[in-house]
Amino acid sequence: MISYAEALDFVRDAARSAPPLSTEPLTLGLALGRVSAESVHGTEPIPPFDNSSMDGYALASARAAGASSAPLTLPVLGVIMAGDAPRCQAESGVWKIMTGAPVPAGCDAIIPVEQTKELDGGRAVEIRATPHEGDFIREKGHDFLAGAEVLPAGTTLTTRHLMALAAAGVTTLNVRRKPRIALISTGRELAPPGKPLAPGMIRDASSTYLAAECGRLGFDFRFYGVVHDDESEFRAKLEHALSDNHDVILTTGAVSMGDADFIPSVLKDMGARTLFHKVAIKPGRPILFAEMPNKTFVFGLPGNPVSSVVGFRFFVLPCLRELLGQSEESPIRCRLKNKTDKPEKLRCFFKARRLEDGKIEILPGQASFQIHSLLAADCWAVLPEEGVSIPADRLVDVFDL
Ligand code: AMP
Ligand code: MG
Repeated sequence: MISYAEALDFVRDAARSAPPLSTEPLTLGLALGRVSAESVHGTEPIPPFDNSSMDGYALASARAAGASSAPLTLPVLGVIMAGDAPRCQAESGVWKIMTGAPVPAGCDAIIPVEQTKELDGGRAVEIRATPHEGDFIREKGHDFLAGAEVLPAGTTLTTRHLMALAAAGVTTLNVRRKPRIALISTGRELAPPGKPLAPGMIRDASSTYLAAECGRLGFDFRFYGVVHDDESEFRAKLEHALSDNHDVILTTGAVSMGDADFIPSVLKDMGARTLFHKVAIKPGRPILFAEMPNKTFVFGLPGNPVSSVVGFRFFVLPCLRELLGQSEESPIRCRLKNKTDKPEKLRCFFKARRLEDGKIEILPGQASFQIHSLLAADCWAVLPEEGVSIPADRLVDVFDL
């Protein structure tokens, strides 16, 4: 049985040798959740010109040196509102200026309105503080220079990224096309949603999860239904999915050692190159990864719900990140709250919770059918292969849910 690290190398190498997903230009309004195909540079500096960060008065600071000890009265030349074109400084006075308005040439400081007193119906102002060069001025290009990189290739576009792109004058960008994912679930015990649960039947939890997770991540997803542990039905569905040109086909169940675990042999019959079957992990040990003759990848996820979740999170997502031109995800490291027992020689992906002191609590209920602890979890703790007991305070890798 291979290790998780070896399995991940197989997945990444296979994905890297596949042609990259094609790209398309999209306007910002349509780009949320998509992945940038190239580094994106701003066309304009942020801010685009020197502007005031306060409502106040713009002036040349040298003119008001000493104003904090002896208030100084100066004439007001006019008012500059946000959106006004830049004005010129006249030697004789100050400009009343609003937040975001362009600082007039020759002015190098803003006195906030709170440190002034308006006189003579606004025609003059008393300055009660000494200004210093640069006070309350947001300098052109201070946040981003014109042409600076706003985001690198491989960025999943969040609302923050869209804001930065909009601010930098970008209107469209090239993104990778959405990965196309298919799912075929197996299990004659799976009851259709809404139908009464006949004796011996269970609800299909994993199909709903995988469909929703693919939707959340912005992938194109198609469900090919549940196979009732009939090999020829599975083969027909797989042929159908293969003809529909997916990047990745997921299956659930039927990959372990039972009498109805037919997926490995059907794939072999259909000419698949099986890159691995069974990995030294818990949960999800029977996981399978294969490449079909038409180069579509197949992940055989074990049927237990949490095994499917772990298989998707730690095998399928790294494959899709590679196809999308994204770098490898890196964990953060946190200390374990409590001593934790684990099986020897298996890497464990355990449902865990971050505590206030920054430590990680491994939750009770780690069996692969237990969904309850998944609800209480907010992260995955990854325990190393070596050892049967990890002491409290040991640093472990932690991934987002
Ligand atoms: P299998 O991998 O097919 O041997 O299934 C392992 C366990 O997971 C069995 O107890 C199945 O009943 C259960 N199981 C399989 N598929 C699902 C599913 N889609 N949702 C919930 N449980 C499942
Ligand atoms: Mg089964």
